[in-house]
Amino acid sequence: MYASLILVLLLLIFTILSACDANKSLPTEDLPQSSIDLYPKEDSPSSIELDRIMKWADKGMVVHSPFNVFDSSIQQVKSEWGKPDHVDQVAGGSYATYSEKQTVIGFNQDGEIYDVRSYGPNLHELTIEKVEDKLGQPKDIRLNDQDSIYVYELKQQIELKLIFSNKTKSVDHISIYNPVRAEAEQYVLDIKGNSNQLTDKAWKSMQAWRAQIKSFSTEHQSVYLNGPNKKRVALTFDDGPDDTITPAIIHILNDYNVKGSFFFLGSNVMRYPEVVKQAYESGHLVLSHSYNHVELTKLGKVDVENELAGAGKAIQSVVGRKPAILRTPYGDTNNQVVSIAGEQGYSIVLWSIDTLDWSQREAENIVKNVVENVRNGDIILMHSDSDKIETEKALPLVIEALEKMNFEIVDLETLLNIKAYQ
Ligand SMILES: [Zn+2]
Repeated sequence: MYASLILVLLLLIFTILSACDANKSLPTEDLPQSSIDLYPKEDSPSSIELDRIMKWADKGMVVHSPFNVFDSSIQQVKSEWGKPDHVDQVAGGSYATYSEKQTVIGFNQDGEIYDVRSYGPNLHELTIEKVEDKLGQPKDIRLNDQDSIYVYELKQQIELKLIFSNKTKSVDHISIYNPVRAEAEQYVLDIKGNSNQLTDKAWKSMQAWRAQIKSFSTEHQSVYLNGPNKKRVALTFDDGPDDTITPAIIHILNDYNVKGSFFFLGSNVMRYPEVVKQAYESGHLVLSHSYNHVELTKLGKVDVENELAGAGKAIQSVVGRKPAILRTPYGDTNNQVVSIAGEQGYSIVLWSIDTLDWSQREAENIVKNVVENVRNGDIILMHSDSDKIETEKALPLVIEALEKMNFEIVDLETLLNIKAYQ
């Protein structure tokens, strides 16, 4: 009720104001005082450009690109434009860059386009003032260090985003975005898994960490808790290698013809290089869990750099390749760790099911934590250091249970569609 009253009132005021404006622009001897008044706003180049942008945006497209965010696919783009210059992975999606076309195209796991970005040079003429003048106030303004993003909602809930560079104060690029198609990107699971060995206090603090890391991972494209919403899961093993449990686990995985992902500590890699080789040569992923297993968020920049570089070097010295996936000890992560990991070429992959094989160790409980909680895309955390006898016992049961539930067990490279090695 009140809302519609206010709307009517606003309309009334607006009409009166525009009437005044109209009166002002009547030819009188006062006019023109400035050159701006010589050209009606409607015809200015920026205004024409914005008209054109809006006309195409309504069709889910950017100017001069034949693809839209309603029903185009990346396959269509590739068949018309050929191979992109490069493709960047983000959580759950990918962005293909076509430099010559001044276009970047975002697509989801199913190849459906959800974002078309245009970097045409005409856009640089558009300032915030000109845009607001023409399009009015946006639905949302998002600010960050580099740019200010103006979001306008169009029909069928798609969005037109104008990205203003904070440096130049003009449009850097525009984006047509379909949030429904992009949703595959937002598939972030709650972390599951329980143990009867935790005190109330420990359980509460674990719950708090799980909630915090979930929101952290949604804000950082290079931090993963799980894979996409498909009937696939990954088995991961931390803290090895050792000379008994890790070889036993490799053997079980090989027997079942299942690929696992190992997060090894640099210090252990140097101690048991033969086991590392065995894991790698059997086709399992050999990934980084840092060098010494310390809380990285408590370290200064240089120490974090050394922890990551040391582990990378150790693994490279044994298998000849440097990993591109890091799991931080205890899942402990912050902005500094993410940025150093990025500089050294790592994505950070944590987990969405904790089997708690380090707390309530009985094989039965490990299996239960998987079977009762498993969802599409889960990343399952286990350990392969030398006291994990129950983990070794549980593993065949876990694999059999997952396969019975029709889950495909894959390594992290396959699950997340990211590189395992640099
Ligand atoms: Zn660990």
